[in-house]
Amino acid sequence: MPNTVEFYRSFSNVNDIPFENRAQIAFAGRSNVGKSSLLNRLAGQKKLAKTSKTPGRTRLINFFLVDNRFYFVDLPGYGYAKASKKDKAVWSALVESYFQKRENLKGLILLLDCRHEPTGDDQLMIDWLEANGVHYIIAMTKADKLSRGKLLSRQKQFEKRFETEVIPFSANSGIGKKELWGWIEKAVEGPSN
Ligand code: GDP
Repeated sequence: MPNTVEFYRSFSNVNDIPFENRAQIAFAGRSNVGKSSLLNRLAGQKKLAKTSKTPGRTRLINFFLVDNRFYFVDLPGYGYAKASKKDKAVWSALVESYFQKRENLKGLILLLDCRHEPTGDDQLMIDWLEANGVHYIIAMTKADKLSRGKLLSRQKQFEKRFETEVIPFSANSGIGKKELWGWIEKAVEGPSN
């Protein structure tokens, strides 16, 4: 696990992201899925990424520097029901241009709430990752909200449906933190995609 995770910069335009060699690990998920809480828990810092009760406000890609070695890339959440057409267009343009650039993207962590069926937006994101050969894993968030048995059957369901590794994660209890760091470390050493 790392020593330091620090906020680096926010970008509203991917052309402003400076070219450099550090690897990138991206995080994506529906608004309110628990992405800020997961990032805070991974970093061991309560206020690194903002958690908010009014989801869908972020129109920025946030970069965090991990041990001066690689970046966490916090992509804005999608699927906020009250988002305007314009908001959605801004989101799509920003995220699509990030993916088009993605020189040093080594892996992506897709967050799915363990209590819910994946939405159409989740499926679109997964289809896109598959079509583009992006190395990804699913973090099943808010794992503390389900009983052990229900959690396990949800995990199996997700693994079967998406044919990828699924890690149950809880920002409250810390379940899955070690496993997720293990995946991240391996991905950072792996090839870009
Ligand atoms: P984001 O919009 O994806 O960044 O989601 P947030 O991290 O802001 O979390 C959204 C809501 O879910 C907040 O009310 C959090 O307190 C709650 N939440 C996030 N992670 C967990 C978790 O692991 N367990 C539980 N019980 N609640 C969580």
